[in-house]
Amino acid sequence: MHKIADKLTQVKHRIQQVARLSGRNPDEITLLAVSKKHPAAAIADAYAAGQADFGENYLQEALDKMDTLADLAITWHFIGPIQSNKVKKIAQHFAWVHSVDNLKTAQKLSKHRPEDRAPLQYCIQVNIDNEASKAGVLPENLDELVKSVRNLPNITLRGLMAIPEKGTSKDDENNAFARLRQLLNELQIKRGKHFPELNTLSMGMSADMDDAVWEGATILRIGTDIFGPRP
Ligand SMILES: *Cc1c(COP(=O)(O)O)cnc(C)c1O
Repeated sequence: MHKIADKLTQVKHRIQQVARLSGRNPDEITLLAVSKKHPAAAIADAYAAGQADFGENYLQEALDKMDTLADLAITWHFIGPIQSNKVKKIAQHFAWVHSVDNLKTAQKLSKHRPEDRAPLQYCIQVNIDNEASKAGVLPENLDELVKSVRNLPNITLRGLMAIPEKGTSKDDENNAFARLRQLLNELQIKRGKHFPELNTLSMGMSADMDDAVWEGATILRIGTDIFGPRP
C-alpha cells in the first residue's frame, strides 16, 4: 500500500528537479496518474496520498471504477482512443478528454455534455510523427480542425496531446515534444483570440517524462512509475 505513496513522492520529486533545472515552475505541471488496468484500490491508495487526477483508457473499466470510488473527489481524464458509440458516455462522465482527433467526435462531445456540468476540457491528439497506424490528427491538418471546433458549446479546447514514436523524443535534432510545443505556440498566435484557455501540452509518460518537462509539458501522463507494471 505504501509503495504507491512512495512512488508518487519519487515522481513528484523528479518533476520538481527537472522543472527547476529547465527553468520552469513545477506548479505549472500537473501529474496525471494513469490507472488503466489497475484496480480501484490502487487509485484509492494514490488518492489517499494526495493524488486527485487520474487517467483511464477504457470506458467500461473507467465507469466501474467511478462507481466504486464515487465518494472521492477525483478528476477523471479520458486518454484512450474514442469509439463513436462511446462518445456520449465520455461526455457525461469525464472532466477532461485528451484524445479528440476529429470534428465529429468534438461535435458529439459538445452535444452530449450535460448543461449542468462544467464545460468538458479537451485536448486534440496530434499524430506528431506521422505514424501510419497511430491515432491523432496529422500536423498539417491541425489548424483546419481547430478552426472548425471554434463555436462548439459546452466543451473547452485546452491544448494538444501526443504520444511520440518510440525513441524520437531522445533525438534533440528533431524532438517530437519540441515540435508539439511549436504547434501549440503557432495555434496560440493564430487562433488564441477564440481559445483563451489554450495552454496545455499533454505529453510525457514514464519512459520520457524528463524530456517532456524540458520541452514544456503541462500535463504528464504517468502510469508505470506510479502503479508499477500493468497486469
Ligand atoms: C498507458 C498510457 C500512459 C501511461 O504510460 P506509462 O508508460 O505506464 O507511464 C500515458 N498515456 C497514454 C495515452 C497511455 O495510454
